[in-house]
Amino acid sequence: MSSGVPLTVPMPGKPYPTVGLGTFTFFDETGSAEELCNAVKIAISEGYRHVDCALAYGNEKAVGDAIKAKIDDGTITRNDIYITTKLWNTHHNPDHVEKALKKSLRNLQTDYVDLYLMHWPFAFKDGDDLFPRDSDGNFVFADHDYIDTWKAMEKLVGAGLARAIGISNFNKRQIERLLEVATIRPSNIQIEIHPYLLNETLVNFCRQNKMTVTAYCPLAHPSTSRKIEGEPVIFDEQLLKDISSAKEKSIAQVVLRFLLQRGIVVIPKSITPTRIKENLQLYDFDLSESEMKQIAGLSGNFRIVKEDKVSSHKYYPFYDGF
Ligand code: NDP
Repeated sequence: MSSGVPLTVPMPGKPYPTVGLGTFTFFDETGSAEELCNAVKIAISEGYRHVDCALAYGNEKAVGDAIKAKIDDGTITRNDIYITTKLWNTHHNPDHVEKALKKSLRNLQTDYVDLYLMHWPFAFKDGDDLFPRDSDGNFVFADHDYIDTWKAMEKLVGAGLARAIGISNFNKRQIERLLEVATIRPSNIQIEIHPYLLNETLVNFCRQNKMTVTAYCPLAHPSTSRKIEGEPVIFDEQLLKDISSAKEKSIAQVVLRFLLQRGIVVIPKSITPTRIKENLQLYDFDLSESEMKQIAGLSGNFRIVKEDKVSSHKYYPFYDGF
């Protein structure tokens, strides 16, 4: 075990493992629910005790099936596994929040989640159509204030349906506004962080406010249909190749370790058994201060998840920069 990076960090409810399995995948020709279910089962067998999913990914049932199978075969108990899911934009109406979580709980086949995050600060039109669009193909927004949505989320903790609650994709000003009125402060924030987008100001602010910070797209989302010609790919970086061979670790492991050493929780997604295993083997080596600085030097404020189609919403978070 290397110095400095704990296996878990404190959270209300139970300790939060510093490495979790990300699960966002398209259920189309590139992936299926069965494949994801299998990946989660493999991850649990390999030692993962933290899974990140979301109602909007349409994958809670596949994740729930996998967890149930691993509980049934005696590998884990429910208490051994940390489950995070997220409240989607179409359920921000305070009167609908509990119902939305209950739907997620049914999908996940559990009585509670360990962490429930508000996926975005902005709301879409109420209803079961997760991506409501008008005749021009634009998203139909709703005006719900995330403050009111948060107050409804606070009640979920008292009801025992969520052990901890948090936010995702909020900017600093939005968090400040939330903190002014929150009775239960967010325990966690999930934001995009990788070597090309360190998000340092926001990370430091969240830490000062006692929130754990989780990196999504920790590998900068290397291989998806979203990839645009000319965008950087971590696996092509000579610096990372050099550090990787010096450490006898993969580039993915170097990047994930870089984030862990910055005190950030990581949720790399993979459905490939060898990569699932590799992405958990992060606790047996160290990056030096100089290597940490060099990797940080790759940063160029390059954001992958921009959600530009929502950029006209008054709560769109990314105009601020942090
Ligand atoms: P990641 O940065 O985790 O990259 C995932 C991609 O990397 C997959 O294509 C995977 O391929 C590949 N990969 C994984 N491990 C390795 C490895 N060791 N070597 C080479 N390639 C590897 O991107 P994600 O966007 O998936 O982010 C992670 C998770 O964060 C999501 O799955 C989701 O749970 C969460 N998320 C949350 C968001 C939010 O708004 N809160 C937004 C986006 C993501 P393969 O699967 O084929 O092995």
